[in-house]
Amino acid sequence: MDLQPINLNGIANDRPLLIAGPCSAETEEQTLCTAKQLADRGVKIYRAGIWKPRTKPGGFEGVGAEGLQWLKRVKAETGMYVSTEVATAKHVREALSNDIDLLWIGARTSANPFAVQEIADALEGVDIPVLIKNPVNPDLDLWIGAIERIYNAGIRRIGAIHRGFSSFDKKIYRNLPHWHIPMELRRRLPNLPIICDPSHIGGRRELIAPISQQAMDLGFDGLIVESHCNPDKAWSDAAQQVTPDVLEYIISTLVVRDEKQSTESLAQLRRQIDEHDEKLLETLVARMRVSEEIGKYKKEHNIAILQTERYDEILQKQAAKAAPLGLSEDFIKTIFVAIHEESVRHQLEIMK
Ligand code: PEP
Ligand code: MN
Repeated sequence: MDLQPINLNGIANDRPLLIAGPCSAETEEQTLCTAKQLADRGVKIYRAGIWKPRTKPGGFEGVGAEGLQWLKRVKAETGMYVSTEVATAKHVREALSNDIDLLWIGARTSANPFAVQEIADALEGVDIPVLIKNPVNPDLDLWIGAIERIYNAGIRRIGAIHRGFSSFDKKIYRNLPHWHIPMELRRRLPNLPIICDPSHIGGRRELIAPISQQAMDLGFDGLIVESHCNPDKAWSDAAQQVTPDVLEYIISTLVVRDEKQSTESLAQLRRQIDEHDEKLLETLVARMRVSEEIGKYKKEHNIAILQTERYDEILQKQAAKAAPLGLSEDFIKTIFVAIHEESVRHQLEIMK
């Protein structure tokens, strides 16, 4: 793919490229007040959802085209570039005729090739940067397919946004990062800028800083962060939004490493280790969830928690696999004894 950098006039190509703003434009006052605070703190590209795809009906579905006038005021009064999400050809036409500078395609839309194609057709012959969020499901080909549809419409300033993947288990993250997927995207399309959305991955404002740092460590090009002048009162995604002040602080604490440093290969290997540790934890959490389901079943059917035979079977079965995998039997046993102990603890909680 013959891609071009996002290149908005006057914006340096430094990492991280930062896009910030509220999940949704709610009122003219909230849109303007958040924008001014962000511009004062050096943010150059503003985001605000005008049309909101909500998982369930009844949530705030966005103010619609009226909000585009507010974004015009943001441009005029702060000099920031403005961006919004488009999900239909009509959104594209309305955004373009109201001087929106950058468009993004949301995760629910990029999962649907019909919708992406409709957007691509509406973009034919237009020159505007378009960011494509990963589809809600962890399917790299579907993500690349959406990117190709936009590329085939003639758009060259394309970026990807990694916003995590839906899962039933929302223990730590709102959307599981599965970092290996955006890393594989980087391998397949090395010229494609990849931006991380720590707000939708984390779902909680405390997670924005660590996820942003991890994205920087993994070599992401930018961040898109939800920021609101009064986060607790936000009409959508309140728990994950931060004030412009907090955002400024988070950005100031980020360590952005020079990718060309000599220790880069060591750093890369360590990142791989971190990624595997992350997966181990996710797997353990998922295993405990199943264990808790078993606990409920045992409670309902009045079965004792400790089933020695089953425990023994698991230990023997896994220990037998150790040698062929190049692992010591003792190591495997230690791990499964510990896992079993933790499982029993979870089941005891349920019995209480
Ligand atoms: C958003 O950016 O506010 C949004 C709806 O995100 P996503 O498409 O990632 O769910
Ligand atoms: Mn949001």
